[in-house]
Amino acid sequence: MPMELPFAESYRIKMVEPIYLSTRKEREEWIKATNYNLFGLRSEQVYIDLLTDSGTGAMSDRQWAALMMGDESYAGAKSFYNLQEAVHRILGFPFTLPTHQGRAAENVLFSRLIREGDIIPGNSHFDTTKGHIEYRKATAIDCTIDEAFNTESVHPFKGNVDINKLEAVFKKYPKEKIPFIIVTITNNTAGGQPVSLQNLKEVSALAKKYDIPVVFDSARFAENAYFIKTREVGYADKTIKEIVREMFQYADIMTMSSKKDGIVNMGGFIGFKNEELYKSCWVYNIMFEGYVTYGGMSGRDMNALAVGLDEATEFEYLNTRILQVKYLFDKLTSHGIPCQQPAGGHAIFVDAGKMLPHVPREQFVAQTLGVELYLEAGVRGVEIGALLADRDPITRENRYPKLELLRLAIPRRTYTNNHMDVVAAALINIFERRDSIRTGYRIVEEAPIMRHFTLKLEPVK
Ligand SMILES: *Cc1c(COP(=O)(O)O)cnc(C)c1O
Repeated sequence: MPMELPFAESYRIKMVEPIYLSTRKEREEWIKATNYNLFGLRSEQVYIDLLTDSGTGAMSDRQWAALMMGDESYAGAKSFYNLQEAVHRILGFPFTLPTHQGRAAENVLFSRLIREGDIIPGNSHFDTTKGHIEYRKATAIDCTIDEAFNTESVHPFKGNVDINKLEAVFKKYPKEKIPFIIVTITNNTAGGQPVSLQNLKEVSALAKKYDIPVVFDSARFAENAYFIKTREVGYADKTIKEIVREMFQYADIMTMSSKKDGIVNMGGFIGFKNEELYKSCWVYNIMFEGYVTYGGMSGRDMNALAVGLDEATEFEYLNTRILQVKYLFDKLTSHGIPCQQPAGGHAIFVDAGKMLPHVPREQFVAQTLGVELYLEAGVRGVEIGALLADRDPITRENRYPKLELLRLAIPRRTYTNNHMDVVAAALINIFERRDSIRTGYRIVEEAPIMRHFTLKLEPVK
């Protein structure tokens, strides 16, 4: 029997950036100097950086070539029309407003659509989305299916909207109070979990019935399409581009953080189908971002993004990416390391509460694991636990979320599976000595809001 050929990346490497493997002693000094806050490290002090997959991807030779062809005209740049053409052709939105990143797209669109007292249902709104809703004294209502909140349940589309919860919101509030519903694909907050086409279709039908527009928060739309192709009945033989077009049939508007599935380092946009609405957003784009044909982006970056959208919707690229996430996931789970099931599109979520059972929750379990992983191998993840959950705004008591997670986000086309092996070995070492890890950290200093970025910690002796 001939050997089955193993899987390998769908690209080769043309440019490299050296990274430095430090010693444990160096890392002990550095992390102490940042008061045990991983955000405080310089990137040179990190060997493998899994803090985020946002803006950290590697561009292709085609994207770098497009960059050189950027048109930097203030108004009507060729690069803008390249981007608008790509958004129209690939995603199906004829009108594009560029913005400098995803949250800026939210700021512009929500300035136009949201009024005080409004209700915005969705599936686990992303932090900046929720921030831009609450800043306008409106309310985000989470209608994600219950399966999303159980790390052990295996469901192919854990990002789905619960149609009954959504209809309850539509029934409870008058239509005038609900400017739109926002569906996040993939559902980042629930762990990069996808939304099925069937669900998008049902959301759209229900929204039509109640005459409420549908917005897709689309940062990882291509990864979502990959999961539809590989998990949903009837889509195995469709191309990613066909699936993407079908998905976006069910949206009236899209917001995009191009730092994710645009595979660029900075950028965002809003896509519209309705020309009137598009034009009514111009004034906000001009005030907050820039003129309507650049909106905070350089011509060269719009050019690279137009190519990035094309590359991100190719199966071979997505297969390479998602199989790498799964590669790390399988290594960890086969050693018994508890992770959010199943593996998402862009990140692994290690269940720190289960991994370090002896550390009291008051001593920040996921942060403790994050610091341990950095000390072990120079790998940087990010805490999704009590530090991030912050204090109750009224009582000022610490809020303890149901789960203490350490997120390892995988940048696009940046690291090889050898790097994933290092990450896995480091976590396995920590897992093997978990009984000896019994104390965590206490807060020495913190800001009144968004404390996780700047807070200072010290080890509990
Ligand atoms: C990253 C992200 C945003 C915000 O985009 P930025 O480019 O970081 O401003 C919004 N929604 C989702 C789902 C995201 O992942």
